[in-house]
Amino acid sequence: MLLPTGRLLTKMSRNAFSGRYGYFRTKWRAVTEGRILFREASALLAFLRRSGCTFHRCADLYRQPVSRGISYRYDVHVRDIPGCRSFVEFHRKEGIPATFFFFWDYSPLERKHFQEYKELRKLIVGSSEVGHHDSPVDAFLIANRFRGNRREYATWADSEGAVRWLTRLAEDPVELARFNDSVLTEFIARVRQAQVHFGPISLIAGHGGELGQVLRKKLPKMNPAAAKIAQNLRARHWLTPNRLAAAGLEACVDRNNYAPQGWFEASDDGGLMTKMARVLGRRLEQTTAVQLLLHPYTWAGGKRDAELSELLNSGTALSSAAALAT
Ligand SMILES: [Zn+2]
Repeated sequence: MLLPTGRLLTKMSRNAFSGRYGYFRTKWRAVTEGRILFREASALLAFLRRSGCTFHRCADLYRQPVSRGISYRYDVHVRDIPGCRSFVEFHRKEGIPATFFFFWDYSPLERKHFQEYKELRKLIVGSSEVGHHDSPVDAFLIANRFRGNRREYATWADSEGAVRWLTRLAEDPVELARFNDSVLTEFIARVRQAQVHFGPISLIAGHGGELGQVLRKKLPKMNPAAAKIAQNLRARHWLTPNRLAAAGLEACVDRNNYAPQGWFEASDDGGLMTKMARVLGRRLEQTTAVQLLLHPYTWAGGKRDAELSELLNSGTALSSAAALAT
């Protein structure tokens, strides 16, 4: 029988210690982040209340934008799930509606976490609801041209091959129509599945997607017809009222050609809270309806350039909007 050497024993005990330490550190971090998330979410809500805002479901505010009406939209990717649980609790406690858009069926990576989405769904009650978050064209390409390999897809999207493909589509309207039909067929099936798993869903929120994100920088240099196709394939533009109707959805809650007048968005995109505060302040001064687009991960451990609780208490555009309301 082989007995562990002294060095091995030391290593084993060190591993046992760091494993346990790692566990407590993760737990401690989660508790701290949870506390910060509640503090920040409460600061934002208190500010909106002080500013005379009213709170609406995403569908209602989109259908009928009201001055200083606020709706909460959360885009829930896999990494957003832990923070999302806290936000679900926050909205339940405060009695403020929210729509949680699940990014659950984009690629194999998301499908691996299906059970976590199912568990999350169970927590969403009352006036809050679930929506579908997707980029139909990207999801189609990942599944059908890249066998689910998202990394390969991202490499292709950023290559000359993608530009050549778009140029070919621009020259061949029959091929373009065929492609869009195939994407639509799969999209309809995916929305049906979403409804089977998560209950009634009437809204979708477009995801940026690899193709749109990398092509954005290249658009000015592309042949204009191909650039137009590239734009139209982005979820927010591809999700036309006809395609939504075919999938049994009521609306795509993105800013696009079909978005209603007097309805705008303020987002925590990229953790730029300063920008979000400025945009929100300006929109409230203009007394428009504002959909807050939030990514839970940004609030639960992600990078932020500032804290809303501090921005709202300092002499920023937000405070002046609050002053205007009183
Ligand atoms: Zn997204």
